[in-house]
Amino acid sequence: TVSEKVHGSASAAQGAVAGNTGSRIGFENVSVAYGSLVVLESLNLTVNPGEIVALIGPSGSGKTTALRAVAGFVRPSAGRITIGDRDVTHLPPYERNIGMVVQNYALFPHMRVEENVAFGLRAKGASEDIIRARVPESLAMVGMAPYTKRYPRELSGGQQQRVAIARALAIRPQVLLLDEPLSALDAQIRRSMLDELAKLHRDLPNLTVLYVTHDQTEALTLANHIGIMRGGKLKAFGSAQSLFRHPPNRFAAEFLGRAN
Ligand code: ADP
Repeated sequence: TVSEKVHGSASAAQGAVAGNTGSRIGFENVSVAYGSLVVLESLNLTVNPGEIVALIGPSGSGKTTALRAVAGFVRPSAGRITIGDRDVTHLPPYERNIGMVVQNYALFPHMRVEENVAFGLRAKGASEDIIRARVPESLAMVGMAPYTKRYPRELSGGQQQRVAIARALAIRPQVLLLDEPLSALDAQIRRSMLDELAKLHRDLPNLTVLYVTHDQTEALTLANHIGIMRGGKLKAFGSAQSLFRHPPNRFAAEFLGRAN
């Protein structure tokens, strides 16, 4: 019922604004199908608290689907997804304490930077006191404190993406989901944003991050562990060093450019 949903949402929001970070993400035999097309097949993957795990692999291999399943935008046809100790498999997105940033930052163009960041908090039912504290705090984390009154069109692409990250962090999510966050940016800005994300992870060592990218440099620079996907399956998983030194199969070796 609607009242149950509202109630559920309110209690989830209290969890969010209480400020938990650092929960494990678990995929247990997760499959996703669109009609008869199986796009994720029995995925088993753990992202430990405070880790960045990057999912790489060719286009169409199921990376985004895996991420969207954690967010709750895609329902698994089988298996279980956990965030911390909670089985979230059947929870709607708004009852999962996740922050998400996608490729095309999607800030609201008619709202100032501070209003964009406040929006997510308000949607979670945060009080005005919390909003007043969290908005500048989150913007400061990504170096955007001086830009609170700007509109998105007055910012560069990299700055807009920083605001999107601040908006995702403002609710103090249990996990941060990043879907090709740097892909729309030009090469130079991408490099400085990579540094920025590395710094953010040092500043927030408990934040658990699942990072989807087609860019190996991003994965190698940021991730504690890397998963390589193909055809809806996880073909390899390990630290960058172990994957390069001992790719577990020919596909992983070729994908990492180590075929010979
Ligand atoms: P990746 O992120 O690795 O590029 P995706 O997870 O986006 O891969 O897509 C995996 C497969 O699922 C692709 O074949 C894609 O065409 C298909 N797919 C993704 N979303 C949908 C959808 N909403 N309906 C039908 N097929 C989809």
